[in-house]
Amino acid sequence: MDSLVSYIYIISGALFILSLKWMNSPASARRGVFAGEAGMLLAIGGTLIGHHQNWEWILAAFFIGTAVGVPIAYIMPMTAVPQRTAMSHACGALAAALVGTAEFYQRQAHADTDLPAFVMVALVIETLLGFLTFTGSLMAMGKLQEILPSRPMTYKNQNLINAVLFAIALALGIRLILVPTDTILFPIFAGLSLVFGVLLILPIGGADMPTVIALLNSYAGLSACAMGFVLGNQLLVIAGALDGSSGLILSIIMCKAMNRSFTNVLFGAFGQIQTSAVATEQRAYRSASAEEAASVLEAASSVIIVPGYGLAVAQAQHKIRELFDSLMKRGIDVKFAIHPVAGRMPGHMNVLLAEADIPYDRLVEMDDINGEFPQCDVALVIGANDVTNPSARTDKNSPIYGMPILDVDKARTVMVIKRSMSPGFAGIDNDLYYMDKTLMLFGDAKAFVSEIVKELPARVGA
Ligand code: NAP
Repeated sequence: MDSLVSYIYIISGALFILSLKWMNSPASARRGVFAGEAGMLLAIGGTLIGHHQNWEWILAAFFIGTAVGVPIAYIMPMTAVPQRTAMSHACGALAAALVGTAEFYQRQAHADTDLPAFVMVALVIETLLGFLTFTGSLMAMGKLQEILPSRPMTYKNQNLINAVLFAIALALGIRLILVPTDTILFPIFAGLSLVFGVLLILPIGGADMPTVIALLNSYAGLSACAMGFVLGNQLLVIAGALDGSSGLILSIIMCKAMNRSFTNVLFGAFGQIQTSAVATEQRAYRSASAEEAASVLEAASSVIIVPGYGLAVAQAQHKIRELFDSLMKRGIDVKFAIHPVAGRMPGHMNVLLAEADIPYDRLVEMDDINGEFPQCDVALVIGANDVTNPSARTDKNSPIYGMPILDVDKARTVMVIKRSMSPGFAGIDNDLYYMDKTLMLFGDAKAFVSEIVKELPARVGA
């Protein structure tokens, strides 16, 4: 029976690895999700077979988890995925921490044999990371959902206080490793870890939360990995390590795409000072109607569409597909420029455009498309803002200075669909909107694109 469970776990681990690999490309992402689901089903099945005396608990957890998880997947809008992810991490981390706590107390009766130093090291890592990730993720969710103020909350000597607190928790953890029977210390250790999670996230602004969530994902994974060592479960070790490393890699990718360092994200209190220097100064810009926009597009031979967060808010992906079809039918070359942090989570734009069946080979990553903007007739920006802001290249005082951007300003004509002149996520004005070659198309992305689509055939008949 044991070897059957081992085989099931190996297949399950392989499916998790394949799942991550397949999720790397939009073309195979769906397969990746199925592989992950199949891996998880096998893992639960294997656990059921291996622990036949506890079926009712495992099945109850399975059904409760499904009953909570499935509706959440349907209710939560795509734009709220970062906070939903934070909530999942909070639950996963709490589960790992509670399992660690239960193991600690349950094994006290035979502490000499059941809580050797190796197990205690894993158990301390599991509970420390589990508890701090639980409160940290709840804080991150609160900030993203704006239940809590999303600005960084800072006070004097904050980093020092956090460091001291963490050092005390760590010292207690080390003491527990050396003397596992010192049970009185455990609640203090757990309490400090919970408090540290809150304090760690307080000084981080809402703008950095998606990156922090990727990092918390990594902590939750490492906690689960440590739990695998405590329970002697190889699959948990594999799954936790995969989760831990992929979360870390994701947060590194996000930091790079925003030209930020880890220390700056974690301790920089980004977003605290509103640095929008050009406060409410009136600057001239040109706006145009859907009819005018349609005629500019019709005259073009190449168009690059730049999607951003506003596209997700407006759910304009299907209308954009209609626009894409209509332009391609006219022999116009249409591509989509994908910035790595467009929207509110990595891959946000790929997911939306894939939902509307836009061919994957038309989605071009930032580094590959930037060289094409100077030859492109029209750059059509739809609900994107920060990722097109040229001040990231030149203005050292800009909070997004150094962030790689899409070189939209180099196109022959720029058209921007958004509802107003309001700033985007970083809260700053965009010089792109005031250039002579830029036309502002004011309106909701879905409504405006559908007006352009209506105008296009009408113009053929005219
Ligand atoms: P953005 O800078 O947040 O701008 C989005 C724009 O969409 C807004 O200026 C808004 O202008 C417009 N908009 C909102 N609703 C709309 C609607 N219904 N129809 C049309 N337009 C609408 O978005 P972005 O250019 O995609 O940049 C992403 C930002 O998020 C970056 O600052 C990035 O660093 C940050 N971020 C992203 C990630 C990630 O993983 N993707 C993670 C962390 C942070 P109006 O209000 O005038 O309409």
